[in-house]
Amino acid sequence: MAKYKDAVCRLCRREGAKLFLKGTRCYTPKCAMSRREYAPGQHGQGRIKLSDYGLQLREKQKVKRIYGVLEKQFRLYFQAADKSQGVTGEILLQQLERRLDNVLQRSGLASSTADARQITAHGNVKVNGRRVDVASFQVKVGDSVTINNKENIIKHVKANIELTKDKGTPKWIAVDTNALEVKVIKLPSRDDIGFPVQEQLIVELYSK
Ligand code: SF4
Repeated sequence: MAKYKDAVCRLCRREGAKLFLKGTRCYTPKCAMSRREYAPGQHGQGRIKLSDYGLQLREKQKVKRIYGVLEKQFRLYFQAADKSQGVTGEILLQQLERRLDNVLQRSGLASSTADARQITAHGNVKVNGRRVDVASFQVKVGDSVTINNKENIIKHVKANIELTKDKGTPKWIAVDTNALEVKVIKLPSRDDIGFPVQEQLIVELYSK
């Protein structure tokens, strides 16, 4: 499982965006981005002009952190996107968006990607009625993602739904909060990506 050893709030502050890496805390006024919305470190409040390479690198780091993917796996996603038909940057984001852990997080059934991975790794998630414990599993149109009918996990997921209720749900999935079911109604489009990203910079970086 991908793990960053840094204090995760530093990653949000570095990218200047809420990445929702800490679960429950991210939805409270204790969120570090609410209190210190500038980059960490001694020069965090100053403006540093980045080179083209620096901008490309920063954009790649941001996307990797949002989806909790390490370099090797991220590069594999890029290579697959590069080989496929369509716009490489958009296909890259689409693949990341279709990860099972991301679906759980975006639907509000999980409070963060780490929470989604824990729920999945413990065998509490089914896709089309079959248990799937691989967080990187790619959902497809028509898939139904459900949660195990166990009291403790239902309680946990319902608490997450309440916590994340103001976050909104992307249009490519439909969430039934009573049945704890997520349906994939279409593939995610570029407009469904819920954060500002310039994916072309990542394509330029890997195309050097
Ligand atoms: Fe920390 Fe979550 Fe706020 Fe990011 S969104 S700064 S991980 S509390």
